[in-house]
Amino acid sequence: MLNLVLFGPPGAGKGTQSEYIIGDYKLVHLSTGNILRAEVEAGTELGKYAKQIMDEGKLVPDEVVIQMISNKIDANPQAQGFIFDGFPRTTPQAQALDELLSNKSTAITCMVSLDVPEDELVSRLVKRGETSGRADDNEGTVRKRFKEYTEKTLPVATYYQAQNKLFSVDGVGSLDEIYGRIKSVLSRYV
Ligand code: ADP
Repeated sequence: MLNLVLFGPPGAGKGTQSEYIIGDYKLVHLSTGNILRAEVEAGTELGKYAKQIMDEGKLVPDEVVIQMISNKIDANPQAQGFIFDGFPRTTPQAQALDELLSNKSTAITCMVSLDVPEDELVSRLVKRGETSGRADDNEGTVRKRFKEYTEKTLPVATYYQAQNKLFSVDGVGSLDEIYGRIKSVLSRYV
């Protein structure tokens, strides 16, 4: 299996690049942000609970997102591999993911980290907010998301680096250029 963690700060382009990757590599795309937004949209108990936290730019508790991912992995027994997008976002989530995959006799293949300078990210997200309808795409909430990212999520890169699985890619350029850089990392494995 090819199990990829696509990593990067809010606005780095993980969702867009995931779409490219699933087209070529036949992987199942698991985005915790998308799953949570679908729960909010459907008005479920989980959605009502998560909405408040998301609108504040904070992270939903680990046990909640770990259970969501566990369910999605179980729901896709035939998958040739997964792209994890927006997950793991904390070290405990990364540890839990290792355990879930090892129970399936598989593992994370690599992490691709999209590097983009903060000024560029803020302007991308504020611009996205004009059309995305996402309550968290405004400057105040974006700043809080960055704070969460820096404090809780950046250590996840160190976690994979310690396993020699971290590859950093320049996330500035045209979509095709960035995708080319990601493909050159994946070409080591497929
Ligand atoms: P971004 O565009 O900031 O990368 P996402 O769409 O991935 O955002 O997620 C939006 C929000 O959903 C996050 O700010 C957070 O509240 C919640 N969320 C998504 N994934 C996770 C996760 N793995 N752990 C905790 N909270 C999460």
